[in-house]
Amino acid sequence: MGLLDSLKVGLKRSREAINEIFYMGGEVDEDFWEDLEDTLVMGDMGAELALRVTDDLRDRAARENLTRAEQIRDALAQRLAAEFPEAARDPFTDVPSCVLFVGINGAGKTTTVGKLAGRAREAGLSCVIGGADTFRAAAIEQLQVWGERAGVEVITRERGADPASVCYDVVEAAEKRAVDLVLIDTAGRLHTSSDLMRELAKVVGVTRKRSSAPVSVVLVIDATTGQNGLNQAREFNDALELDGLIVTKLDGTAKGGIALAISSQLGLPIYRIGVGESLDDLQTFDALDFTRALVG
Ligand code: GDP
Repeated sequence: MGLLDSLKVGLKRSREAINEIFYMGGEVDEDFWEDLEDTLVMGDMGAELALRVTDDLRDRAARENLTRAEQIRDALAQRLAAEFPEAARDPFTDVPSCVLFVGINGAGKTTTVGKLAGRAREAGLSCVIGGADTFRAAAIEQLQVWGERAGVEVITRERGADPASVCYDVVEAAEKRAVDLVLIDTAGRLHTSSDLMRELAKVVGVTRKRSSAPVSVVLVIDATTGQNGLNQAREFNDALELDGLIVTKLDGTAKGGIALAISSQLGLPIYRIGVGESLDDLQTFDALDFTRALVG
């Protein structure tokens, strides 16, 4: 199955709902617009965004005399795609580069680091992985497995070591060897959320100070978390000033709208999307491909 196909399967719930309104009567009347708005809200896009998109589309339909629902479909994909901010730079190919991955446990950070390390190797870039989640012993082991799979060295320290000093060591080692890409995995859970944010802020501060390559802070977010994902993203963004997002599990039962809600509301580009659990299941994000998959 191609990557776009797996994305379509993952976005099945949104697609079916949207398809339903397009096929219901085929006529664009007031009910149609209300149904469209409701469907977008239910697809995790958020009420405010759903209203704005529906209003714009209604204006365009009036202006261009689009009277059949089928004509609206592509306009909807285009309108939604326009909501995604574009990335000024790609931290995984514009090297040298150092990327810190943040996000709650289970979001897919470690998996994503492994996939990106594999890609970097394939592209002929030198890469090291840093393991700054010293809170859980299993996290370090899991990262080592991904490092082996990708053929990339993992630099880390024992459980309980100070994460910020791990980052310092990782960046120092990488710079000595003039490594192109440094990917650092961080903890997703501590005793409390404010402990976590404080620790991550320190990790970010030390890494920015030590690294001569640009440092990007990337939030990894699970698309199946729904509206709660937006609150999570806001909390991380407030504490750490994120540069962008990687949205995972878009092959699952995600509605997909949450990716759009977070990206547009926080003004953060999506660098990659995860569409499965293996090394190859990572896609470069293309806004129009994504919204076309979303609307059918
Ligand atoms: P972390 O705690 O943030 O490091 O999360 P992990 O990388 O350990 O991932 C948590 C679980 O999500 C694992 O079982 C992964 O295999 C799974 N996972 C990660 N990314 C994806 C994805 O894009 N699609 C699917 N279906 N599963 C994923």
